[in-house]
Amino acid sequence: MDFLPVFLNIKSQSCLVVGGGDVATRKSRTLLQAGAKVHVLAPECNESMQKMVEQGKVVYHPEKFTSAKLDGYKLVIAATDDMEVNELVSTEAKKRNMPVNVVDAPDLCSFILPSIIDRSPVMVAVSSGGSSPVLARLLRTRMETLIPASYGRLAALVGSFRDAVKQRFDNTNDRRKFWEKVLEGPVTEMMFAGQDEAARGALEQAINNGADMVEKRGEVYLVGAGPGDPDLLTFRALRLLQQADVIVYDRLVSQPVLDLARRDADMIYVGKKKSDHTLPQEEINQLLVRLAKEGKRVLRLKGGDPFVFGRGGEEIDTLMDEGVLFQVVPGITAASGCAAYAGIPLTHRDHAQSVVFATGHLQDNSIDLNWKALAQPNQTVVFYMGLTGLSIICEQLVENGMSANTPIALIQRGTTPEQVVMHGTLETMPDMFNSSHIKPPTLIIVGDVVRLHEKLSWFKPEKI
Ligand code: SAH
Repeated sequence: MDFLPVFLNIKSQSCLVVGGGDVATRKSRTLLQAGAKVHVLAPECNESMQKMVEQGKVVYHPEKFTSAKLDGYKLVIAATDDMEVNELVSTEAKKRNMPVNVVDAPDLCSFILPSIIDRSPVMVAVSSGGSSPVLARLLRTRMETLIPASYGRLAALVGSFRDAVKQRFDNTNDRRKFWEKVLEGPVTEMMFAGQDEAARGALEQAINNGADMVEKRGEVYLVGAGPGDPDLLTFRALRLLQQADVIVYDRLVSQPVLDLARRDADMIYVGKKKSDHTLPQEEINQLLVRLAKEGKRVLRLKGGDPFVFGRGGEEIDTLMDEGVLFQVVPGITAASGCAAYAGIPLTHRDHAQSVVFATGHLQDNSIDLNWKALAQPNQTVVFYMGLTGLSIICEQLVENGMSANTPIALIQRGTTPEQVVMHGTLETMPDMFNSSHIKPPTLIIVGDVVRLHEKLSWFKPEKI
C-alpha cells in the first residue's frame, strides 16, 4: 500500500488552491463539496473560476506563489501548469508539514485525491495510487452503476436509528446481526424504491420485534426486463435480479436477461406451457402472493415494461389486497426499444406530433379499436401483438382514411441479434408478410416516420 486511505474533515477550514485554470477549478469544487473555505491563488484565473469568485464561493488572491502564502492554511493543492511553481509549493508545504497535493505528480504529493462515489454520508473512494487516474475513474464509473443513488438516504435513516438499536440490543454481536438482516431485507429495498415512510415504519417494527422477525417478510418486485438486449435493463432491475430468491418469468423475457439472475434463484416459468396454455392470470397472482408470504423475495419479470400491455396492474392489485409489499420497476417497452434499434424515431417534427400504442390482439377475428382516431394524420401508431391481425389492421386504417401508401414496418425480436425489420406500405404489407418468415414477437409501426428507417437504421446484428 503506497498511501493510507483516510477521510479528512476539512469543514470550515481554510484550504489553498494554487492555480486558476480548469484543473484548479475542479479541485476547488471538490474542496467546496467537503465544506472547506477555499482560497485560490493565481496571477489570473479562467472564466469558470471567476464565476465562483463572483458567486462568493471562493476567495481569490491575484498573486504569484511564494512560501509565505501558505500561512494559515490546513492543506494546499498545486494545480498550475508551471512545474517549477508546483515543485516550489510541494517543497514549501512539506517543510511546514502541511498536506500537499500536486496534480498529476504523485512524487510531489503527501496526499492524493481519489475518484469519489458520493452517496453522502456514504463515500467510496477509488485510487490507483497516482499511477492511472483514468483507470481509477473508469472503475469509479463501474461502481457508480452498482451503488444505488439512494444509498445516502438509507445511511441517514440507519444513522437516525443507531441509538435506538444500541438500547434494544446491548451486545455488539446481536446489533451486527440485526443490521445485517435489516440491510439485506425489505427496509433497504423500500428506501431504494422511494418508500421512505414505509421503510422507517418497517425499521421501527424490526427494532420492536427483534432481529429474528426481520427476515420473514417477503416482497414482490414487478420488474420490466426490456425488449431483449440485456444491456437495456435498468440498474435497479439488475440489482434485484441478483438478489431475488425466486424469479417468475414469462415467454417474452430473453435468455441473456435470465442469465443475469442470481445463480441459486428458483426460476419459475409461467409463459406458454407445452399444452400451449399460459398459466391463467389469477393463478399467477396467487402464486406471487403465496411465495411472498413464505418470506421470499419474488421477482416477477416481464418483457418490456410491466405497465404497457403487461397486466402488471392486475398483479399488483392482488398484492395490494393481500397486504404484500411490492415495488414496480419500469422497463424499456418494445415500442421504444424496437423503434430505437430500427432507426425509426416515434415522433419527428416533420412527420408525427403524437404517438399511440395500441393492441392488435384479435378477439373473435376482429380488433376492437377506435380506428378513426388511429387513422389521424401526423401520428405514429404502434401495434403490440398485432401480427395475426395484420391484414385487418392495414385494411381498417385505409378504410378509415389513411393513405394506402402509408409506410408500415414490422420489427421482429427487436434489440436482439435476431432482429429483422421489414417495411412496406399498408397496401403491400399483408402479402409481404404472408410470404415472409416473420414470427412473434413482432412490433408494428405505422406512419411517415417509418420512411426514416432506410437512412437511420444503424443496428445491424450479424445473422446467427
Ligand atoms: N410489456 C411488453 C409488451 C407485452 S405485449 C412491453 O412493454 O414491451 C407483447 C407484444 O410486445 C408482442 O406481441 C410484440 O408485439 C411486442 N414485443 C415485445 N418484445 C418485443 C421485441 N423484442 N420485438 C418486437 N416486438 C416485441
